[in-house]
Amino acid sequence: MTATALTGIGLLVTHDPEVGDLRDAALVIEDERIVWVGPSAQVPDADDGTDMDGRCVIPGFVDSHTHVVFAGDRAAEFEARMTGQPYTAGGIRSTTIATRAATDDELLGHAANLLAEMLAGGTTTTEIKTGYGLSTVDEQRCAQVAARLTDEVTFLGAHVVPAEYADRPDDYVELVAGPMLAAAAPYCRWVDVFCETGAFDVDQARTVLSAGRAAGLGLRVHANQLSPGPGVQLAVELGAASADHCTHLVDADIDALAGSATVATLLPGAEFSTRSPYPDARRLLDAGVTVALATDCNPGSSYTSSMAFCIALAVRETGMSPAEALWAATAGGARALRRDDIGVIRLGARADLVALEAPTPVHLAYRPGVPLVAATWKDGQPLSA
Ligand SMILES: [Zn+2]
Repeated sequence: MTATALTGIGLLVTHDPEVGDLRDAALVIEDERIVWVGPSAQVPDADDGTDMDGRCVIPGFVDSHTHVVFAGDRAAEFEARMTGQPYTAGGIRSTTIATRAATDDELLGHAANLLAEMLAGGTTTTEIKTGYGLSTVDEQRCAQVAARLTDEVTFLGAHVVPAEYADRPDDYVELVAGPMLAAAAPYCRWVDVFCETGAFDVDQARTVLSAGRAAGLGLRVHANQLSPGPGVQLAVELGAASADHCTHLVDADIDALAGSATVATLLPGAEFSTRSPYPDARRLLDAGVTVALATDCNPGSSYTSSMAFCIALAVRETGMSPAEALWAATAGGARALRRDDIGVIRLGARADLVALEAPTPVHLAYRPGVPLVAATWKDGQPLSA
């Protein structure tokens, strides 16, 4: 084993409630784990060391909601939306056509590039959904590609009803909950459904989620993104790890989340990229709901891979404080993935860390759009920016 000490940390944000934030701190990494945290002056001997020169160190970002396995580009659709032309449905279907036509190597290469972009931006854990294949063979291919890049793979066959099933959506639900799930499940940890008018109704969503649970998968739900609806309450009822988007909530949705272990994952990049009203994080936090932040990285409605950008949006637009947004982007994402070994800097946690070219993480929101990640460690291995 090789022990590496990081010393001279100006401010160490641990998210360990017993430790809090430490000034003039150090930590020691052994293999892929953190084995010591404390004052820089008391750091034990190590095989090698790096002086952080007063930089701030935070847990690596946990991006608990992405759709990075796809082909094609929808810049023209975005441009049309931003120049006031009417938004026409079918964007997901255009990505599905391109994804089905792409080879496995093309899908893997493109997704790996996005993962590298994320790692350089400080994201050390990324959940990846399928959902642009929408056939048994293509959803299995997408799940296989995702599983080569992360342990947190989500089967999203119920993303939209593909064109060939447009006039018989219940047949598609049967396919998703049957053969498609069986083909994808060996590569997945999670199952997800887009529960929304125009996608899947509450009964269809329940069918898919119940089948996924029977196959041993944990549950996630795309809920209440475009309008109020039953998604959040279905997620809570079924014990889902996360209800994602949560943009249009009524009081009963907030009460349900507050009394549950279901995390509300906010994706403000989607509201930014579609010029839509933002979710109200303040209302959720004041009610005691656990909130996560993620990018929703996808080619249609949120083509950002930057958690720092999402933190800035969450602070500016959803009523979160800088500290709340940072927690949501790290420890909150870990909760949304039911993980306690990431999103926190404590003994035994994975050595997934980010050094910021800044004295405090407030700069992530205070200096939006500025690349502040000086270095990232994933599983104890350094990646210099
Ligand atoms: Zn999504």
